[in-house]
This record gives sequence, structure tokens and C-alpha cells, in this order.
Amino acid sequence: MVLWSGGLDSTWALHRMLDCWHNAGTIESKQGKPETLTITSTQVHNIQRKMEIRARVRLKKLFKKKFGWEFKSKEVVIDSNNHYHGGLAQATLWITNAVMAINAGQPLVLGWVKGDDALTALDKLTEVWKILVDLNNKDNSTLWIPGAHKYKEEIIEELRNLELLEACWWCENPFKQRRKYVACGTCHSCQRMVSAHAVDLTRKAESYEEAIAMLS
Ligand SMILES: [Zn+2]
Repeated sequence: MVLWSGGLDSTWALHRMLDCWHNAGTIESKQGKPETLTITSTQVHNIQRKMEIRARVRLKKLFKKKFGWEFKSKEVVIDSNNHYHGGLAQATLWITNAVMAINAGQPLVLGWVKGDDALTALDKLTEVWKILVDLNNKDNSTLWIPGAHKYKEEIIEELRNLELLEACWWCENPFKQRRKYVACGTCHSCQRMVSAHAVDLTRKAESYEEAIAMLS
């Protein structure tokens, strides 16, 4: 099972898991079928949530069309009025819900990137994982964190080569234009996409806004 949002890191992790599953056989345990789990907080902005859902639908079709890979998807919606203070608070929700969702023996794949805040707490999260799988009698399940050895720029480049990049979402502050969800072009994620990915696109573009529009 992969924790999958439809964003860059988790889509990369999903591709890697499915590739291993179908080709390399490097996942220690093959119990169960490839699955994704999406954990959605109702505090996430509604437009972003819709953009994420559309990205996952697009990507699911692409995975089938390009690679012939299919997988089941689960979603957990967390309806909470608690104030959310950033990445690490969310990470405990990921681990807890993932342990509930996996079958005993099924490994869990997380996409994580070098330099991510959450990585500084990786040892603690691994401890939480161990305690929770033990409590839930799923201690034969393993935690697999493939993204830990990648930089964001490498992930963007690899997704681009796989022709999956454009189907992902990345914008933290998208808006709706006619019936399309459009990237804002100014948030941290959008800026990184332009600098890492769209060098050739931006050469053709007349303006920064146009480059962003080409990516959306
Ligand atoms: Zn943005």
C-alpha cells in the first residue's frame, strides 16, 4: 500500500512500488494487491482537494494506459476542527490511518524527500509505526520509505521522463478558471516546478504567467 495524494513525491513512490511489484520483485512481501491510501483532511482548501482528486483520476488512467498497471484506492477523510500546525502533525495521521488500512503482512510505502521537515522525525515516526503495528497485530508488515534518497528536482525529472509529471498536482493555492483548476504560479511549489521542470517551456513562454499556464 502506498500513501498517495496525487502530488509529486507520492506519485513517484507509487510508480516505484508498482514497478517493483510487476517487474523487479524487490518488495519483500507480496501479500495483498497493490493499493493506495489517500488521507484527506477537511481543512485542506476545497479547490485544492478537488484538484487533487482530478489528478489522481488522471494518473490512475495513465498508469493503466502507459504501463498496464491497475490498483485499488482507498480514501480516509479526516474531519477535524483541531488546528493544524504543519507537516509533522499530519505525519502522525498518515501513519495511524495507514496501519488501520493495511492488511497484516502488507508493506506500506511512503514517499519522502531529502530536506523534508518530516524526515528529521523519521526515527520517531518509525517508532510510532512499530508500536502501532504491534498493537494491531500487523507487526509482519514493513515500512518502506523509498523517497528518502531523492531530491525534489530528481523526482520532477524522473516523473517527467515517465510522462506522469503533467498529470500530478503540485500547487498549494490553485484557483478555478472556467471548468479547469489552474496553478497559482506564485506558491513555493509552483516556483520550484518552473525552475526544476519548465526550463524549456519557459524559454518558449513570453512571461512567467504564461509558463505557469503551460504547466497547468
Ligand atoms: Zn501554486
